[in-house]
Amino acid sequence: MDKLVSLCKRRGFIFQSSEIYGGLNSCYDYGPLGIELKNNIKNCWWRAMTYHHANIEGVDASILMHPRVWEASGHVSGFTDPLVDCRKCKQRFRPDTLQTKMCPNCGGELTEPRLFNLMFKTFMGPVENQTAIVYMRPETAQGIFVNFLNVVNASRQKLPFGIAQIGKAFRNEITPGNFIFRTREFEQMEMQFFVRPGEDAEWFERWREERLAWHQAIGIRAEKLRWHQHDAGELAHYAKAAFDIQYEFPFGWQEIEGVHNRTDFDLGRHQEYSGKRLTYFDEERKEHYIPYVIETSVGCDRTLLTTLVDAYCEEPAGDEVRVVLRLSPKIAPIKAAILPLVRKDGLPELAHNIANDLMRAHRVFYDEAASVGKRYRRQDEIGTPYCITVDSQSLADQTVTVRERDSMTQDRVAMSALRGWLDERVRYD
Ligand code: ATP
Repeated sequence: MDKLVSLCKRRGFIFQSSEIYGGLNSCYDYGPLGIELKNNIKNCWWRAMTYHHANIEGVDASILMHPRVWEASGHVSGFTDPLVDCRKCKQRFRPDTLQTKMCPNCGGELTEPRLFNLMFKTFMGPVENQTAIVYMRPETAQGIFVNFLNVVNASRQKLPFGIAQIGKAFRNEITPGNFIFRTREFEQMEMQFFVRPGEDAEWFERWREERLAWHQAIGIRAEKLRWHQHDAGELAHYAKAAFDIQYEFPFGWQEIEGVHNRTDFDLGRHQEYSGKRLTYFDEERKEHYIPYVIETSVGCDRTLLTTLVDAYCEEPAGDEVRVVLRLSPKIAPIKAAILPLVRKDGLPELAHNIANDLMRAHRVFYDEAASVGKRYRRQDEIGTPYCITVDSQSLADQTVTVRERDSMTQDRVAMSALRGWLDERVRYD
């Protein structure tokens, strides 16, 4: 992890937030490469969920919502974690994550657990009193539930259908940590799939299968992924069944995505608290009912960390060590580097022309500094899948050398075919 964190900073993936002021605990900023990687992950998810499913619509709901939403959802009363303090060193812990009954830091005695609500509160308007309290949403799901009828009416979707959303969520976590694994501000990619009651178990299995396949499709190694089923003690108040997709991080197997059968809990509660009817009319069955919901909920930042951890690789290369990020070309921040072999004989001009053409479709990088070997290494370290080298032969026959990152094999490709060649290899479909 230390090597990865240092690479992330050095090469511009992830920086500590407000670093010049000493940083803000558990808050991070994405740099030039990090934002590309993040956008690519979001794009792969969005395409997989909406473009590939005619029956899934997208929304983008606001972060601040009516405070009653969080009473209805159960978050005001129930979104709590137990918290204990060490009487000696004053550190705080979540007792459910501790192996011992003593402080893991200094061995001191711990206080009795207190329940701590994880929602961030703020005030809407100029007066800071009880009636002006609003919450920063702790999950994006509720923005989907409260828009259920709007989307049904606007899109004329019939059950089963889904609503997808990507957006920020905030949790005042007691023990954030492991770099961007657990932070207090993060982004979720959630899809709520509305189904007929009685068909929920079948859809639950279908979405489980599809979501696991998605992680593999963006390049995560299958052997590093596994399912964890929630037992009765772990199940959230709204869930009938829940499975987590876990990844084997250097700090152990941890959840990256949850697939939950939320039943009719959320829509039922919003109907009760808002006094608005949220039933769906099933034309085939000629009946009104509240649909069941299968939720797939994955953290964008946590997926990004997973892709980096999974891709990081050191291998011997002669006397040196080659650091390679074996990111899938679909999510790699830079798709290709365009490198003139030497800085003369018209090669830079030709390489610039290629870069100018490719940059209309993809994020590419032009580099003419240092030896070509060094330039290859710099690209390996940030996961660029292809290096396109322009040499003297390019002037003669309008072809370039394309070097593939992982195998380091080289191919000649006609310049006129380059755009299609690259497009085919980096596209998510
Ligand atoms: P945990 O038990 O780890 O706190 P959770 O079960 O509460 O997580 P969910 O509410 O199911 O998590 O959230 C769905 C997904 O959102 C998680 O699988 C994770 O990828 C992401 N997520 C949740 N909390 C955080 C956080 N504090 N930082 C980053 N990502 C998070």
